[in-house]
Amino acid sequence: MAKIQMTTPLVEMDGDEMTRILWKMIKDELILPYVDLKTEYYDLGLEYRNETNDQVTIDSAEATKKYGVAVKCATITPNAARMTEYHLKEMWKSPNGTIRAILDGTVFRAPILIKGIVPYVKNWTKPITIARHAYGDVYKNTEIKVPGKGKAELVFTAEDGTETRELIHNFEGAGIIQGIHNTKESISSFARACFGYAIDTKQDLWFATKDTISKKYDHTFKDIFQEIYDAEYKEQFEKLGIEYFYTLIDDAVARVIRSEGGFIWACKNYDGDVMSDMVATAYGDLSMMTSVLVSPSGVYEYEAAHGTVQRHYYKHLKGEETSTNSIATIFAWTGALRKRGELDGIKELQEFADRLEKACIKTVEDGKMTKSLSLISTCEQPVILNSLDFIKAIRATFESLQG
Ligand code: NAP
Ligand code: MG
Repeated sequence: MAKIQMTTPLVEMDGDEMTRILWKMIKDELILPYVDLKTEYYDLGLEYRNETNDQVTIDSAEATKKYGVAVKCATITPNAARMTEYHLKEMWKSPNGTIRAILDGTVFRAPILIKGIVPYVKNWTKPITIARHAYGDVYKNTEIKVPGKGKAELVFTAEDGTETRELIHNFEGAGIIQGIHNTKESISSFARACFGYAIDTKQDLWFATKDTISKKYDHTFKDIFQEIYDAEYKEQFEKLGIEYFYTLIDDAVARVIRSEGGFIWACKNYDGDVMSDMVATAYGDLSMMTSVLVSPSGVYEYEAAHGTVQRHYYKHLKGEETSTNSIATIFAWTGALRKRGELDGIKELQEFADRLEKACIKTVEDGKMTKSLSLISTCEQPVILNSLDFIKAIRATFESLQG
């Protein structure tokens, strides 16, 4: 079979530890034999980030803006232990944070459903995609521990010096206060990313906040979403037969639990943090989860939702066998290749991505899986494979699916 040709390169962001090992296996076994792969390669492994003073991360994000589609391997976010382990010049920032700041995106996470891995919520037969706003609120807060009696006020000083004041509380004794904010710009780009992604994936979009209690803060989120929907997206939604609806967060959680899935749930920053962990756990775990960063300008960065699987990597370094699940990383590649195929009108590339995803799912459904999957699968006698053999098993399934 002739290899599938590409016209525009993917931005390839290599990473760290066990996922870096999987990255090469996936390319060698599942992609390079079938696709005449064109990538612009950026090594986001911690050593090279350190060598380039993290410039490589910035360059990779700029390249993503230029080409439109990137695929990213999991990377280490350095902490004190990593400083000594990698002899770092500085405690470099989280690459995901840096990339997100440059692309200004929203992260969409959806579970990969497989027969034999039964969600804890039985009626969730379709994936629920969580779209989490990634700026502001409690994540950029200012807090004060109030020591005793006194008055707390919220003060906004305009550029011309005029002040707007609101009493927060007259404290009779000790307490706490917190100031949070968001911006119209950030909320608007969050809204556009959600509407765009709903259209892209032809799914309904749900959004919920606590606007009955928070009549200015949360209500502004609701209003911005509605204004942008009416002005820019309503027509396209109606044409596609998909729906946008807003409801109170209390109502949303009740409806989500009773639903069959198959929609996007847009969440404010904190709600998204908590709800994505809940949804991921209910469907299985993070290694069966896709993750894509979508910018309001229509730039896509695909990655796995899990980290670099450090413990497995140390075993690997000692020459011991590992059984690490590569499915989330494979789906990062298929997501990126499919999107490239869509943008460049290469049908073969889209079909390749579909078939490779099918092969991953069928391999596990046929009982061949990694140790981590066997722990959550209802399959009675799973064949537990090591990291490479699992990828090879997926390749064999892929070959068997060829027309
Ligand atoms: P992790 O890499 O997600 O791994 C946590 C544990 O989850 C693993 O030790 C493993 O459990 C299990 N696990 C995760 N992915 C798995 C897979 N594909 N197959 C099988 N088991 C899997 O998180 P972490 O250990 O907290 O973080 C390690 C490094 O990753 C850190 O340096 C962190 O900064 C980085 N990180 C990067 C990203 C990213 O780039 N997007 C996200 C999160 C964390 P067992 O060991 O029990 O088998
Ligand atoms: Mg969380």
